[in-house]
Parts: sequence; C-alpha cells; structure tokens
Amino acid sequence: DFITLPALVRDTAQARPDRIAVIDGERQLRYAEFDALIDRIAATLQRDGLKPTDTISICALSSIEYAATFLAALRAGIAVAPLAPSSTAKDFSAMVRDSAAKILFTDDFAANAMKDAEIDAAVKRVAFDDGTSGEAFTRWLAPEGTKPAPVTIDPEWVFNIIYSSGTTGTPKGIVHSHQMRWAQYGKLDPIGYGPDAVTLLSTPLYSNTTLVCFNPTLAGGGTVVLMKKFDARGFLELAQKYRVTHAMLVPVQYRRIMALPEFGQFDLSSFQMKFCTSAPFAPELKADILKRWPGGLTEYYGMTEGGGSCTLLAHEFPNKLHTVGQPRPGHEIRMIDEDGNFLPNGEVGEIVGRSDTIMKGYLNQPQKTAEVFWTDKDGNLWVRSGDVGRFDADGFITLMDRKKDMIISGGFNIYPSDIEAVAAKHPDVLEVAVVGMPSEEWGETPVAFVAARPGRSIDPAELKTWTNGQVGKTQRLAEVVLVESLPRSAIGKVLKRELRDQRLGMKA
Ligand code: ATP
Ligand code: MG
Repeated sequence: DFITLPALVRDTAQARPDRIAVIDGERQLRYAEFDALIDRIAATLQRDGLKPTDTISICALSSIEYAATFLAALRAGIAVAPLAPSSTAKDFSAMVRDSAAKILFTDDFAANAMKDAEIDAAVKRVAFDDGTSGEAFTRWLAPEGTKPAPVTIDPEWVFNIIYSSGTTGTPKGIVHSHQMRWAQYGKLDPIGYGPDAVTLLSTPLYSNTTLVCFNPTLAGGGTVVLMKKFDARGFLELAQKYRVTHAMLVPVQYRRIMALPEFGQFDLSSFQMKFCTSAPFAPELKADILKRWPGGLTEYYGMTEGGGSCTLLAHEFPNKLHTVGQPRPGHEIRMIDEDGNFLPNGEVGEIVGRSDTIMKGYLNQPQKTAEVFWTDKDGNLWVRSGDVGRFDADGFITLMDRKKDMIISGGFNIYPSDIEAVAAKHPDVLEVAVVGMPSEEWGETPVAFVAARPGRSIDPAELKTWTNGQVGKTQRLAEVVLVESLPRSAIGKVLKRELRDQRLGMKA
C-alpha cells in the first residue's frame, strides 16, 4: 500500500500520542490531538461534498489550523492550493479560479490582502481565526470526534498546487503528486528528521521552501514550530526556548540574524542542521554561520518544478562555499547549450535536472509545461531551470545567475551576481542587486541598486569607483542607485523586474 503523509502522522499519534506535533505561539497540539483534528476537518470537508481529487485553497499565515487543514485535505484525497497573502488582487482572482478550489480558507491577515480580488460566490469561505473573512472555522467544523470515511490514496493524485513565486511574471500552478512528495519527504537527505526533530519554520507555508522541511518533519514524527512573521530576534528566542534541532531560512533571514549584536547571547547548542534555499547565498555569510552557529549547514539548490536538485553540505566542504553543491542522490544534473546539446564538464550552460521528484506540469498551461520540460535524444525528460551554471572538476556546481537576468552588454555576457558579490563586500552595503538597464551604446549596462547598513551612508560615486576597481572591464557599473531596501517576494527573493520597471518609470 502507498504510504501517505497523514498516515504517517496517524502512526505517530498511535505510537507516541503525547509527542508535540505543532507549536503555534502559545498553543500546541500533541500528535493524538493533531490527528483527531485532522480527522475532524477531513470529515467536515466530506460533509461539504468534497470528493477525492477536488481542490481546496488556503491563504493564511501559518497556524495549527493551516497545518491540520492541509493534512486533512490530503487524508481525504483532496488537493491543496496554498496561496501567498502577498499576491496582487489580480493574481488572487486568477489563482483561485485556476485551482478550481471549492473552499477557500483564510484569516483576517490574508483576507485583508485579498479584499479587492474577484472570487466566485460559489467558492465557500472559511475563516481560520474565526474572523470576518468567512464562516468561523470553529462553527464550520463537524462535532468533536467525527471521523471521515476512509479514502485510499492513489499516488498519482494531486498533493498540492504551488503557484510559483512569479519572479518571472504571472504565477504558474506547479502540480505535485503524492508520489512526488513521497519521494521527497520519504528520503530527504542529509540528516533525517527523526522522531526527536524540532523544526522551526519562519517562511510561509504556501512556499515549497517551507514544505520541503514541514513534510519530512511530520513524516518522521517530529515537532514543527510555526512562526507567523519572521523577525531575527524572535526567531532566536523561539530556537532557544524549544531547543530547536532543524530550521529552514532564506539568505536574507540568515543575514538579519547574523547581523544581530546579541546573536552570541542565545543558546543554539540544540541545532543539528540548518537549511537554506531559494536565492543566492553569499559564501562569506555561509562561513560566518559555520563559525558562530552550532550544527551543520545545508544549502539546497532546486526549483519548485522539481527535476534535479543539489545540496551543499557546507560544514563538510568549507572549501566549496562558492558553489551550490553536488546533485542529490538519485538526481541527475547536466548543462546544455542553446541548441540542446549536453556540455562537457566545466562548460557554462543552462542547468537541467531529472529525478523522481518532477512535477506533473503547470496546471492548465500545456504550452508553458512544454517549454519547461526538455527531452534528450534518448527520450529522457528533464526540467529546464532557466539558471546558468557549470560543474567544477570535483562535481560541485557554481551557479552563475538566472538566464533572464544575464546582462548582454556590447556583446559580452555579464552575470549580475559576480558584480553583486563584489559590491556586497563594501562595509557600508547591506544589500545590493545589479540589473541590466537599456543603453543606446551597449544594448544593456549594469546598474546597481544598493541599500546601506543601518547607521551608515553610501556615496554612490565612491561605491561605483570602489566596485569598478575590482570587477572586469565589461562588468563595470554604469550607475549606483541608492534605495531604502530591495523589493522582495514574501520568500525573500529580490524582485529585479520591479527595480527595472521603477527605474524606467522614473526616467520616462
Ligand atoms: P518563477 O519560476 O515564477 O520565476 P522562481 O524561479 O523564483 O519563480 P522557485 O521554484 O521558488 O521559483 O525558485 C527556483 C529558483 O530559485 C531557481 O531556479 C534559482 O534561480 C533560485 N535558487 C534556488 N536555490 C538557490 C540557491 N541555493 N542559490 C541561488 N539561487 C537559488
Ligand atoms: Mg523558476
């Protein structure tokens, strides 16, 4: 029989009923209670007429109700489309429609964010926090002790539909099956999340970044600590209080934490493994974390679409911090050229990957699905990453940049990340993004958007000279623009498109 995530939660509820499953602020649920709540929600979904392969959508801050509803849907064979509260009204309307969700679960925070969205009246609304965004969750719920009708899960059924962070434009619904998720949470390396794992998650639950830690922690019978909104100090307080063993953070969060003057005062000795993914992770920052924060550090490189991913075990390979590591076991990664030929090791090309964690496709978008999949001469299916990179002689991958962010200036390919890495070393620079701006002379030229460290100020001309003195001739910045902070997605990715559009708007 195929093993599902909710079935593993039930196993723990029977074997270790008193083990804490989820902590959410002052509230916590033991596995027995969590499993009973999952049953109750699953039964309520069935009462409302939802059938296996239907979809629900959740748009809310992380909470016990969110976690339990997610698992309840899975238990009933229902797919979950988690949505980002930071989306625009237009995207909300499109995503709810696209997912064909029958029920939309929200909280006041998300409802406020989506108040201008046009959502079909046929979509039932339930409010987790018993707020005003729908029927109060506690009233909607079937009576305590209600059990759902058992459902046998087909591994090919949809587990979740995750709308891509949209750094490239309109969100695409990435469809993962139970099978694909099982391949992930069943054997996530390098440190298994055993029954004693306590995983602190401060990134939002709708994101794959979070789910790749949430799923295996619960599968292993560990505890998930949910943080609704990240702040560096609050994170360290929770980590110390709950003797946290595992955590997933994105680079900008690591940067904020490591910059806290009181960092050294926290007892973080319980940490076994920290994870990072989703955006460029500066080697200096990795080195600082290895030096000052107990436990290992693993960086993931991959896409929500799946295919191939790599891991860098930073604690084991301190001389490889400039890379994103090696392909995970069972994952194959290659570089291809513009004409779709495999490149020999050492050559720069688009990263493609394949494994058993590949998505089913983009929901309702056969054209885009066909574009992201690529079939080699032997008929093997690969996922195109849109990223450019190369292998070194030891099989570690250096990521150059996203293909679409590459700047072509006077016929030369410039990787913004090379210039960003230099400028970021300036003592007054907090964060920097380099973007290609149109230039009559060169086609495009690199422009740096920089924010200063708190209490410091930056002289743009000085920073430009300083940076240009350390980069190649073709990489020289045309301009340095000061900003308060860089625009970021909810998961911390810099939105370069916004920087470019704003700048063009200012000049127009
Ligand atoms: P969209 O496809 O809608 O533009 P996205 O690509 O940001 O959104 P994700 O699937 O969340 O959506 O992110 C995958 C991308 O994130 C990768 O293709 C890569 O560009 C970047 N990325 C992931 N891991 C790392 C990493 N360790 N270092 C640098 N960049 C990374
Ligand atoms: Mg992508």
